Amino acid sequence: MANSISQPGGQKPPAAQTSGSTLFATTQRQFTRAAATLDLPPAVAEQLQGSDREVMLSVPMTMDSGEHRIFMGYRVQHNNARGPYKGGLRYHPHVDLSEVRALAALMTWKCALLDIPFGGAKGGIQVDALKLSVGELERLTREYTRRLLPNIGEQVDVPAPDVGTSEREMAWVVDEASKLLGKPVPGIVTGKPVTHAGNPGRREATGRGIGIVTLELLRRLGKSHTDAKLAIQGYGNVGRHTTLFLANQGCTFIAISDITGGIYNPNGIDVADLETHLKQPGAILASYRAPGVTPIGNTELLLLPVDVLIPAALENQITPAVVEATQARAIVEAANGPTTLEAQDMLAERGLPVVPDILANAGGVCVSYYEWHSNTTGAGWDLEKTNAALRAAMLGAFEAVWERAAQTGRGMRAAAYEIALARVVAAMEA
Ligand code: NAD
Repeated sequence: MANSISQPGGQKPPAAQTSGSTLFATTQRQFTRAAATLDLPPAVAEQLQGSDREVMLSVPMTMDSGEHRIFMGYRVQHNNARGPYKGGLRYHPHVDLSEVRALAALMTWKCALLDIPFGGAKGGIQVDALKLSVGELERLTREYTRRLLPNIGEQVDVPAPDVGTSEREMAWVVDEASKLLGKPVPGIVTGKPVTHAGNPGRREATGRGIGIVTLELLRRLGKSHTDAKLAIQGYGNVGRHTTLFLANQGCTFIAISDITGGIYNPNGIDVADLETHLKQPGAILASYRAPGVTPIGNTELLLLPVDVLIPAALENQITPAVVEATQARAIVEAANGPTTLEAQDMLAERGLPVVPDILANAGGVCVSYYEWHSNTTGAGWDLEKTNAALRAAMLGAFEAVWERAAQTGRGMRAAAYEIALARVVAAMEA
């Protein structure tokens, strides 16, 4: 099966309504609003509305049973005006071209907002990773890498973990690419194991960054973080490290959920005890029980009276129906695109503070940059230096967004997009 590289002209989401097409429509609308504010030249706006390159791959794989199956793989490179394309690799049954396009564009804006010298890209395979054995996942990842290889590289396009992938998949990508290229290429992906040219603190970085902006938001709202009650949806790489960081700072989580269900305790969940529970063989989040803890549904969690609601799972979770009923006093978007466009407008009308995804979850790509910098220059980034730089980067971006939002009255999301877009356009014009 050959790679098919589609031309980026006339990019429209496929006709069928999918979670990816909803996300794509949202990100396009966010872009056009910011573009109108900045009065972009039409040709520049047109280029940024599409992607630079879109790769669709058939990825054949022999299952453990001996059955041959074909999986759809994608890599969308949105823009590289500011540096090599950069963005995660997602394994999920809902991955489609629209979703990957939207997530690739978000990466362009995120890197620009944090002033990281990368562009934006995203990749994915339409697969339920939970149903594959480790051996199957390894074969799939290696085959995807072989087929994608001409399009990624240390100075070209640098993937990283996302939903359904982790350090393990990144190590397979580096290993396969290094074999094929006949030389080590550690900087071809980030988010690698620390033992495999990864960066200390990268695994926790997205959650730590979300924690830093959550504390800063509470401070600006005049709320003591030790009195704050929080709820988080999603307890994967991002959600878990966000929770651990904030609980360690003294915040109280009253509800936590993942795909298996949710847990609720109005007096606060003992996060350390939950972690001990999850270490037991076969334990899942929804099976956690302790005095005062009861089950809670995923939608119910979004409606709780909390100081900060943190959606950290997937896109399109905060819908108009959720906004109508939620009692949350602020939202920090840990996931990419967790709020639909209509819901965003309703939240803005209500004046509810929302830290947008391209700011809130940018800690991962910040530390990815430090890792890539180490890999490609030999510079060393220890944990102390990494965490100090991450903190400075997150707080600097927060300050810029907060100030612009205060000046324009258009909210933090518009401010974040306007800052990012102006930087990308300046690079394109240069
Ligand atoms: P992950 O696969 O490690 O975790 C996803 C979590 O969401 C899991 O706990 C899963 O059980 C949960 N989940 C899935 N569907 C759910 C549902 N319907 N209700 C409740 N929980 C549900 O993925 P991740 O890396 O933690 O990514 C989460 C989000 O953060 C995604 O939007 C991703 O794009 C974004 N993000 C990730 C990174 C990173 O460094 N990994 C960086 C920036 C942004």
